[in-house]
Amino acid sequence: MKYVVVSGGVLSGLGKGVTASSIGVLLKSAGLRVTSIKIDPYLNSDAGTMSPFEHGEVFVLDDGGEVDLDLGNYERFLDINLRKNNNLTTGKIYSKVIEAERRGDYLGKTVQVIPHVTDAVQEWIEDVAHQPADGSDEIPDACIIELGGTVGDIESSPYIEALRQFQFRVGRENVTFVHVSLVPVMGPVGEQKTKPTQHTVKELRGLGITPDILVCRSSAPLTVETREKLAAFCHVSPQAVMSTHDVPNIYHVPLMLQEQGLCDILGVDCHATDLLKDWKTMAYHLDTLTEAVHIAMVGKYTDLSDAYLSVIKSLQHAAMAVDRKLIIDWIEASHLESDWKNEEEQASAWSMLKKADGVLVPGGFGDRGVEGKIAAAHYARTTQTPYLGICLGLQVATIEFCRNVLGLEGANSTEFDENPSTAAVIFMPEISKTHLGGTMRLGTRPTLWQVDECKIRTLYGDGDAVDERHRHRYEVNPDLIERIEAEGLVFVGKDETGQRCEIFELNDHPYYVGVQYHPEFKSRPGRPSPPFLGLLKDSTGQL
Ligand code: GLN
Repeated sequence: MKYVVVSGGVLSGLGKGVTASSIGVLLKSAGLRVTSIKIDPYLNSDAGTMSPFEHGEVFVLDDGGEVDLDLGNYERFLDINLRKNNNLTTGKIYSKVIEAERRGDYLGKTVQVIPHVTDAVQEWIEDVAHQPADGSDEIPDACIIELGGTVGDIESSPYIEALRQFQFRVGRENVTFVHVSLVPVMGPVGEQKTKPTQHTVKELRGLGITPDILVCRSSAPLTVETREKLAAFCHVSPQAVMSTHDVPNIYHVPLMLQEQGLCDILGVDCHATDLLKDWKTMAYHLDTLTEAVHIAMVGKYTDLSDAYLSVIKSLQHAAMAVDRKLIIDWIEASHLESDWKNEEEQASAWSMLKKADGVLVPGGFGDRGVEGKIAAAHYARTTQTPYLGICLGLQVATIEFCRNVLGLEGANSTEFDENPSTAAVIFMPEISKTHLGGTMRLGTRPTLWQVDECKIRTLYGDGDAVDERHRHRYEVNPDLIERIEAEGLVFVGKDETGQRCEIFELNDHPYYVGVQYHPEFKSRPGRPSPPFLGLLKDSTGQL
């Protein structure tokens, strides 16, 4: 097993996850089986209870793990399926150590960060690295370990210490340390500044880890002088100083690292498979797309694109498949509401919605903006505009249909109104009312087709069932299904009990589809998720 440890310095948001995933792509292109572990040094057990405001989207895995969005990058870049243990958090590791202490595993000993927590971290990494991740039973050959946060944070120091020890545990020749840093550009001539990187490497070396490779985020390629200076001050060879400068799209990142000789430094032949050729094709294809397709995203975190990262990626995958340049028009859902006080914002939201080629209402929790989302669903339904509703997006469209087609004016979800006159969407009976962490209906579950033919079934292709990932507490009220279906909104996919609604499709509409699950978590470059592909195809007249 070869390990690549990726740490970061200076500041967050340097694209450490994309760098780490790109290194994984290079190893994979050399024919290695690659897996990954993301370490998040916070005390939460998982990302499930964290706000998208602070932390971006919560990514959901097959096994129901609610994890950091970087695991989504790994799954998409490496085309693997990870499990909850691939995201190691301080919450998880401390729980494990405390459980062992209570069992008496350390009887007689004082339990301490060193060696007990650091040992537990190393055992965890070794164990998880050996779990198959690519759908085969084969143990991976390489594991990318990404350490969240920046070096120097108090929270990450036990992990740095664990990783320092780890090189002796598995052999120095089996570990490559990569440090991601920033090279800012200053002054009128655009001087590349190396001091922040010098400082962060000094700090890392002070903690006992000497990086083998430096990856420097910068606006333009590093000059020869900058590379040499960094090499001299940071104790790496000049060939091992890489730059990740601005590129038109992220598919260029593995290619850019390969062109700078990263494969030689890793000691692998990156041309052992055709994978890099495929990446090149994708990267340049995306650059050449000019004809635009406008998709209106009606959500509540519209100024924080990380909150909908996988949805954006899925739209991108689908847009590439229909040869269009994707433009997402972000619409703050509450601006569409009839009583929104700022008329200018309201008018601009509606004008954007009306100009869009397709409408997407993504998942969400809580009542802010819900009436705006309902209005968007109404607009799309009544104007034959392509619509995809994901999770909450399915629920709001169902509420809208009950109100305006069935005439049940007070229809609502019990999430937003405890006692509506018609409960169109209800709390699922099996969900905990007292514990919020990890208790939703989560992970991959089968959806069985209820009809022989419909658009979304055709898009999914062969098979009696689709396996997609879930994350919700509420569902369409089963008691209303018959009435809803009688008016043309058909629940064409249900769970294995035949009771729970999973997919709807509206008759007499070009593409009005809702899914209770989150198809965005399984979309891959070159293999777009079918509900997204349907939306993009219909939005461009190709369905
Ligand atoms: N809040 C809704 C529920 O819990 C929708 C969840 C979601 O969109 N992920 O069912």
